[in-house]
Amino acid sequence: MNTPTTSSRPLGRCTLVGAGPGDPELLTLKAVKAVQAATVLLVDDLVNDEILQWARPDARIVHVGKRGGCKSTPQAFIEKLMIAAVQEGETVVRLKGGDPFVFGRGGEEVEHLREAGIPCEVVNGITAGLAAVTALGVPLTHRDHAAGVVFVTGHAKTGTADGARHDSTDWAALAATARDARLTLVIYMGVAGASHIQQQLLAGGLPAGTPVAVVQHASLPHQRQLVATLGTLVADLAASGLGSPSIIVVGDVLRGMAAAGAPASSRFGT
Ligand code: SAH
Repeated sequence: MNTPTTSSRPLGRCTLVGAGPGDPELLTLKAVKAVQAATVLLVDDLVNDEILQWARPDARIVHVGKRGGCKSTPQAFIEKLMIAAVQEGETVVRLKGGDPFVFGRGGEEVEHLREAGIPCEVVNGITAGLAAVTALGVPLTHRDHAAGVVFVTGHAKTGTADGARHDSTDWAALAATARDARLTLVIYMGVAGASHIQQQLLAGGLPAGTPVAVVQHASLPHQRQLVATLGTLVADLAASGLGSPSIIVVGDVLRGMAAAGAPASSRFGT
Protein backbone atom coordinates (compact mmCIF):
# COMPACT_ATOMS: atom_id res chain seq x y z
CA MET A 1 0.00 0.00 0.00
CA ASN A 2 1.40 3.43 -0.89
CA THR A 3 1.26 6.25 1.56
CA PRO A 4 -0.66 9.10 -0.06
CA THR A 5 0.90 12.51 0.49
CA THR A 6 -2.44 14.30 0.35
CA SER A 7 -5.93 13.10 1.02
CA SER A 8 -9.31 14.72 0.57
CA ARG A 9 -10.71 12.76 3.50
CA PRO A 10 -10.31 13.99 7.05
CA LEU A 11 -7.69 12.12 9.02
CA GLY A 12 -8.86 9.11 10.92
CA ARG A 13 -7.25 8.20 14.19
CA CYS A 14 -4.93 5.64 15.62
CA THR A 15 -4.80 3.86 18.95
CA LEU A 16 -2.22 1.37 20.18
CA VAL A 17 -4.11 -1.00 22.41
CA GLY A 18 -2.65 -3.41 24.94
CA ALA A 19 -4.47 -6.71 24.52
CA GLY A 20 -3.12 -8.13 27.79
CA PRO A 21 -1.52 -11.54 28.30
CA GLY A 22 -4.31 -13.59 26.70
CA ASP A 23 -7.36 -13.90 28.95
CA PRO A 24 -9.92 -11.57 27.29
CA GLU A 25 -11.34 -10.73 30.72
CA LEU A 26 -8.09 -8.97 31.53
CA LEU A 27 -8.74 -6.33 28.86
CA THR A 28 -9.45 -2.82 30.06
CA LEU A 29 -12.83 -1.23 29.29
CA LYS A 30 -10.91 1.32 27.25
CA ALA A 31 -9.41 -1.46 25.15
CA VAL A 32 -12.82 -3.01 24.46
CA LYS A 33 -14.26 0.38 23.49
CA ALA A 34 -11.37 1.01 21.12
CA VAL A 35 -11.82 -2.41 19.47
CA GLN A 36 -15.56 -1.75 19.10
CA ALA A 37 -14.87 1.57 17.40
CA ALA A 38 -12.17 0.33 15.01
CA THR A 39 -12.69 0.15 11.26
CA VAL A 40 -9.22 -1.33 10.76
CA LEU A 41 -7.55 -3.68 13.24
CA LEU A 42 -3.90 -4.64 12.94
CA VAL A 43 -3.39 -7.65 15.16
CA ASP A 44 -0.05 -8.88 16.48
CA ASP A 45 0.90 -12.44 17.27
CA LEU A 46 0.24 -13.33 20.91
CA VAL A 47 -3.05 -11.44 20.79
CA ASN A 48 -5.91 -13.78 21.64
CA ASP A 49 -8.32 -13.84 18.67
CA GLU A 50 -11.25 -14.05 21.12
CA ILE A 51 -10.77 -10.32 21.58
CA LEU A 52 -11.96 -9.82 18.01
CA GLN A 53 -15.49 -10.79 19.13
CA TRP A 54 -15.89 -7.09 19.98
CA ALA A 55 -14.86 -5.91 16.52
CA ARG A 56 -17.49 -4.48 14.16
CA PRO A 57 -18.60 -7.05 11.58
CA ASP A 58 -17.39 -4.75 8.80
CA ALA A 59 -14.00 -4.03 10.40
CA ARG A 60 -10.97 -4.91 8.33
CA ILE A 61 -8.82 -7.29 10.38
CA VAL A 62 -5.18 -7.75 9.41
CA HIS A 63 -2.96 -10.22 11.25
CA VAL A 64 0.47 -8.69 11.03
CA GLY A 65 2.42 -11.37 12.85
CA LYS A 66 3.50 -14.86 11.86
CA ARG A 67 -0.14 -15.97 11.77
CA GLY A 68 -0.65 -13.45 8.98
CA GLY A 69 1.15 -15.79 6.62
CA CYS A 70 4.65 -14.36 6.42
CA LYS A 71 7.46 -15.15 8.81
CA SER A 72 6.64 -11.88 10.47
CA THR A 73 5.46 -8.66 8.87
CA PRO A 74 8.29 -6.11 8.81
CA GLN A 75 7.81 -3.31 11.29
CA ALA A 76 8.24 -0.59 8.64
CA PHE A 77 5.47 -2.12 6.53
CA ILE A 78 3.08 -2.26 9.50
CA GLU A 79 3.76 1.38 10.25
CA LYS A 80 3.17 2.35 6.60
CA LEU A 81 -0.10 0.45 6.69
CA MET A 82 -1.21 2.28 9.83
CA ILE A 83 -0.28 5.70 8.46
CA ALA A 84 -2.01 5.06 5.14
CA ALA A 85 -5.20 3.84 6.83
CA VAL A 86 -5.35 6.88 9.12
CA GLN A 87 -4.80 9.15 6.11
CA GLU A 88 -7.73 7.40 4.44
CA GLY A 89 -9.92 8.37 7.40
CA GLU A 90 -9.99 4.98 9.11
CA THR A 91 -10.20 4.43 12.84
CA VAL A 92 -7.14 2.25 13.27
CA VAL A 93 -6.48 0.06 16.27
CA ARG A 94 -3.18 -1.67 16.63
CA LEU A 95 -3.67 -4.60 19.01
CA LYS A 96 -0.48 -5.61 20.76
CA GLY A 97 0.10 -8.38 23.31
CA GLY A 98 0.42 -7.32 26.93
CA ASP A 99 1.20 -3.63 27.19
CA PRO A 100 2.21 -1.74 24.02
CA PHE A 101 5.02 0.01 25.86
CA VAL A 102 6.67 -3.07 27.37
CA PHE A 103 8.89 -4.77 24.77
CA GLY A 104 6.19 -4.16 22.21
CA ARG A 105 7.97 -1.65 19.97
CA GLY A 106 5.08 0.67 20.81
CA GLY A 107 7.53 3.48 21.45
CA GLU A 108 8.93 3.24 17.93
CA GLU A 109 5.46 3.11 16.39
CA VAL A 110 4.26 6.19 18.26
CA GLU A 111 7.42 8.06 17.24
CA HIS A 112 7.04 7.18 13.56
CA LEU A 113 3.36 8.05 13.54
CA ARG A 114 4.06 11.41 15.17
CA GLU A 115 6.76 12.08 12.58
CA ALA A 116 4.09 11.47 9.93
CA GLY A 117 1.85 14.03 11.67
CA ILE A 118 -0.47 11.42 13.12
CA PRO A 119 -1.19 11.61 16.83
CA CYS A 120 -1.60 8.28 18.48
CA GLU A 121 -3.34 7.33 21.68
CA VAL A 122 -2.08 4.42 23.79
CA VAL A 123 -4.24 2.17 25.94
CA ASN A 124 -2.38 0.15 28.56
CA GLY A 125 -2.69 -3.59 28.84
CA ILE A 126 -1.64 -6.01 31.55
CA THR A 127 1.90 -6.98 30.73
CA ALA A 128 2.80 -10.68 30.63
CA GLY A 129 5.32 -10.38 33.45
CA LEU A 130 2.68 -9.13 35.82
CA ALA A 131 0.19 -11.78 34.73
CA ALA A 132 2.84 -14.49 35.16
CA VAL A 133 3.59 -13.76 38.81
CA THR A 134 -0.10 -13.34 39.56
CA ALA A 135 -0.71 -16.74 37.96
CA LEU A 136 1.78 -18.15 40.46
CA GLY A 137 -0.05 -16.49 43.32
CA VAL A 138 2.90 -14.34 44.32
CA PRO A 139 3.48 -10.59 44.21
CA LEU A 140 6.14 -8.69 42.27
CA THR A 141 7.21 -6.85 45.40
CA HIS A 142 7.02 -7.86 49.03
CA ARG A 143 8.15 -6.01 52.14
CA ASP A 144 10.17 -9.03 53.28
CA HIS A 145 11.56 -10.18 49.93
CA ALA A 146 11.67 -7.64 47.13
CA ALA A 147 11.99 -3.87 47.13
CA GLY A 148 11.55 -3.52 43.39
CA VAL A 149 11.23 -5.16 39.99
CA VAL A 150 13.30 -5.29 36.83
CA PHE A 151 11.55 -6.08 33.56
CA VAL A 152 14.31 -7.22 31.23
CA THR A 153 14.46 -8.88 27.84
CA GLY A 154 16.43 -12.08 27.38
CA HIS A 155 16.77 -11.21 23.75
CA ALA A 156 18.68 -7.92 23.74
CA LYS A 157 21.00 -8.62 20.86
CA THR A 158 23.28 -6.15 19.19
CA GLY A 159 24.98 -6.71 15.87
CA THR A 160 28.73 -6.36 15.54
CA ALA A 161 30.98 -5.55 12.61
CA ASP A 162 31.66 -9.25 12.00
CA GLY A 163 27.94 -9.82 11.64
CA ALA A 164 27.74 -11.89 14.82
CA ARG A 165 25.01 -11.19 17.36
CA HIS A 166 25.87 -10.79 21.01
CA ASP A 167 23.78 -10.56 24.14
CA SER A 168 24.00 -6.92 25.16
CA THR A 169 22.60 -7.38 28.67
CA ASP A 170 25.13 -7.45 31.49
CA TRP A 171 23.47 -10.28 33.41
CA ALA A 172 26.25 -10.55 35.96
CA ALA A 173 25.90 -6.87 36.90
CA LEU A 174 22.14 -7.29 37.02
CA ALA A 175 22.51 -10.29 39.34
CA ALA A 176 24.68 -8.33 41.76
CA THR A 177 22.19 -5.45 41.76
CA ALA A 178 19.22 -7.76 42.18
CA ARG A 179 20.92 -9.46 45.12
CA ASP A 180 22.04 -6.24 46.83
CA ALA A 181 18.91 -4.18 46.16
CA ARG A 182 16.51 -7.14 46.60
CA LEU A 183 14.88 -6.94 43.17
CA THR A 184 12.62 -9.41 41.41
CA LEU A 185 13.83 -10.16 37.88
CA VAL A 186 11.09 -10.62 35.30
CA ILE A 187 12.65 -11.89 32.09
CA TYR A 188 10.76 -11.70 28.79
CA MET A 189 11.87 -13.75 25.76
CA GLY A 190 14.37 -15.59 27.92
CA VAL A 191 13.72 -19.27 27.22
CA ALA A 192 16.06 -19.63 24.23
CA GLY A 193 18.89 -17.95 26.13
CA ALA A 194 18.14 -19.57 29.51
CA SER A 195 21.45 -21.38 29.73
CA HIS A 196 23.50 -18.20 29.23
CA ILE A 197 21.23 -16.24 31.58
CA GLN A 198 21.51 -18.89 34.29
CA GLN A 199 25.27 -19.04 34.01
CA GLN A 200 25.70 -15.25 34.10
CA LEU A 201 23.28 -14.69 36.99
CA LEU A 202 25.20 -17.29 39.02
CA ALA A 203 28.51 -15.70 38.01
CA GLY A 204 27.15 -12.32 39.13
CA GLY A 205 26.51 -13.63 42.63
CA LEU A 206 22.88 -14.72 42.80
CA PRO A 207 22.84 -17.88 44.96
CA ALA A 208 22.05 -21.19 43.22
CA GLY A 209 19.15 -21.64 45.63
CA THR A 210 17.41 -18.47 44.42
CA PRO A 211 13.84 -19.40 43.46
CA VAL A 212 12.99 -19.28 39.77
CA ALA A 213 9.70 -19.86 37.97
CA VAL A 214 8.81 -20.13 34.31
CA VAL A 215 5.25 -19.45 33.20
CA GLN A 216 4.15 -20.23 29.66
CA HIS A 217 0.90 -18.84 28.23
CA ALA A 218 0.15 -16.94 31.44
CA SER A 219 -3.57 -16.32 32.04
CA LEU A 220 -4.70 -18.73 29.30
CA PRO A 221 -6.41 -22.09 29.89
CA HIS A 222 -3.33 -23.91 28.57
CA GLN A 223 -0.98 -22.06 30.94
CA ARG A 224 1.90 -24.20 32.21
CA GLN A 225 4.46 -23.39 34.82
CA LEU A 226 7.58 -24.70 36.37
CA VAL A 227 9.23 -23.83 39.65
CA ALA A 228 12.92 -24.41 40.11
CA THR A 229 16.00 -22.78 41.51
CA LEU A 230 18.59 -20.81 39.63
CA GLY A 231 20.91 -23.81 39.90
CA THR A 232 18.40 -26.22 38.35
CA LEU A 233 16.67 -23.87 35.88
CA VAL A 234 18.09 -25.20 32.62
CA ALA A 235 17.78 -28.89 33.51
CA ASP A 236 14.23 -28.41 34.81
CA LEU A 237 13.27 -26.31 31.81
CA ALA A 238 14.52 -28.98 29.39
CA ALA A 239 12.68 -31.70 31.32
CA SER A 240 9.45 -29.69 31.37
CA GLY A 241 9.27 -29.03 27.65
CA LEU A 242 8.12 -25.46 28.28
CA GLY A 243 8.86 -23.08 25.43
CA SER A 244 7.88 -19.67 24.14
CA PRO A 245 5.97 -17.54 25.04
CA SER A 246 7.18 -17.69 28.61
CA ILE A 247 8.19 -15.39 31.41
CA ILE A 248 11.06 -16.32 33.71
CA VAL A 249 10.76 -14.92 37.23
CA VAL A 250 13.78 -14.89 39.52
CA GLY A 251 13.70 -13.84 43.14
CA ASP A 252 12.72 -14.42 46.71
CA VAL A 253 9.12 -13.30 46.17
CA LEU A 254 8.62 -16.86 44.91
CA ARG A 255 9.25 -18.20 48.41
CA GLY A 256 5.66 -17.19 49.07
CA MET A 257 4.61 -20.13 46.89
CA ALA A 258 5.97 -22.62 49.42
CA ALA A 259 4.26 -20.72 52.23
CA ALA A 260 1.01 -20.85 50.25
CA GLY A 261 1.16 -24.66 50.25
CA ALA A 262 2.83 -25.49 46.96
CA PRO A 263 3.74 -29.18 46.65
CA ALA A 264 6.99 -30.19 48.34
CA SER A 265 8.65 -30.85 44.98
CA SER A 266 8.24 -27.20 44.06
CA ARG A 267 9.62 -25.75 47.29
CA PHE A 268 12.93 -24.01 47.19
CA GLY A 269 16.11 -24.74 49.05
CA THR A 270 18.13 -21.94 50.50
N1 SAH B 1 4.23 -6.28 25.11
C1 SAH B 1 4.23 -7.62 25.66
C2 SAH B 1 5.57 -8.29 25.51
C3 SAH B 1 5.95 -8.59 24.08
S1 SAH B 1 7.47 -9.42 23.94
C4 SAH B 1 3.78 -7.54 27.11
O1 SAH B 1 3.70 -6.45 27.69
O2 SAH B 1 3.50 -8.59 27.68
C5 SAH B 1 6.92 -11.11 23.79
C6 SAH B 1 7.28 -11.89 25.05
O3 SAH B 1 6.34 -11.60 26.07
C7 SAH B 1 7.23 -13.39 24.88
O4 SAH B 1 8.39 -13.90 24.31
C8 SAH B 1 7.10 -13.83 26.33
O5 SAH B 1 8.33 -13.70 27.01
C9 SAH B 1 6.18 -12.75 26.87
N2 SAH B 1 4.76 -13.15 26.83
C10 SAH B 1 3.77 -12.58 26.12
N3 SAH B 1 2.58 -13.15 26.42
C11 SAH B 1 2.84 -14.10 27.34
C12 SAH B 1 2.05 -15.02 28.08
N4 SAH B 1 0.71 -15.08 27.92
N5 SAH B 1 2.66 -15.84 28.96
C13 SAH B 1 3.98 -15.79 29.15
N6 SAH B 1 4.78 -14.95 28.50
C14 SAH B 1 4.23 -14.10 27.61
